[in-house]
Amino acid sequence: MEKAHYVIESKPVRISVVCPSCDETQSYDYDSVYNKFGADAYYGNCGSVECKNCQKDIELGSCEYD
Ligand SMILES: [Zn+2]
Repeated sequence: MEKAHYVIESKPVRISVVCPSCDETQSYDYDSVYNKFGADAYYGNCGSVECKNCQKDIELGSCEYD
């Protein structure tokens, strides 16, 4: 019998970003980012989040899917 190719599906859990102001890596639950930016969160350049370390805004640029 022929074997079937299968796909392991994953969903976004978290985003991580290095803050340009303080160089600390910050991570945010994808759900909270999605709630804020909607589907744009998936494509990058969707807005900004506040750094939890220095409280400055981090502008989200291009994104990479890991
Ligand atoms: Zn910062």
